[in-house]
Amino acid sequence: MSEETAVIANLTAQSWSLHRNYGAFFIRAADLAGAHPAAQAAGEGSGGAMSSAPLPSLTRVTPRKAVIDMGDKRSIDINISARDIAADLCREINGDAGEDSFLGAFVCAGDEPTAEEITDARRRLEAFYRRKVAEADREWARSHSYLFLDDVQRRGAHELGLEREWNYQLHETSECPGCGERVKPHVAVCKSCGAILDREKAKALGLWSEPVDATSAPSAAATSPAAPSAAAAPAATPRNVPAAAPGQNRGAQTNQPRRGEPA
Ligand SMILES: [Zn+2]
Repeated sequence: MSEETAVIANLTAQSWSLHRNYGAFFIRAADLAGAHPAAQAAGEGSGGAMSSAPLPSLTRVTPRKAVIDMGDKRSIDINISARDIAADLCREINGDAGEDSFLGAFVCAGDEPTAEEITDARRRLEAFYRRKVAEADREWARSHSYLFLDDVQRRGAHELGLEREWNYQLHETSECPGCGERVKPHVAVCKSCGAILDREKAKALGLWSEPVDATSAPSAAATSPAAPSAAAAPAATPRNVPAAAPGQNRGAQTNQPRRGEPA
């Protein structure tokens, strides 16, 4: 008797470990190295946001026998087809994330997914991710709290290549010394308070220019204490060109320990 098998394709980098009373099943994560012709055909020319998504992994499922204990020393064997098992596993995987949930697992009609099946599943996954990102956008606008966001929303933003303020991990951001807001790495100017965070970059972008006249009062934004280039070009920074107080002998300041001066 030849066993009829079913094949589960998984589009995401998530793997799944699922348990039934007739067996345990491990659904492999999609792997960039797992190229096969249908997946390549689906990737070509689709041009969608997820056209660079990993190629699906394939997991083959075989039929199982479930034993039902009748309770009177009799038991009944029930044959479960590979296709039923595969459909059941996909239902669990895809149903994990709320309304219209689709997490990228499907049962192939044949032994391998066709290009159409892959394209169709990618579209569904993309649509689902877009809904999750929109959901997170609304939540973020309302609460501005990372606590109410979930992994699927973050993954969605990542997979779709969408930049989101809520998708920056805390370790990727730093605190603006001007206002305390979280700022993305490598930004030139804080968008909340206008502090110049990277003077060289701000200068290159035309967002800041060095004051020509040392006696003109520099704007508060130009004297951000966090400006890393302040140390690189100390002579040019306004803070290092102090206007001498009236009557003060500037020469006396050089190399003279201040504590030795009379009060
Ligand atoms: Zn700021």
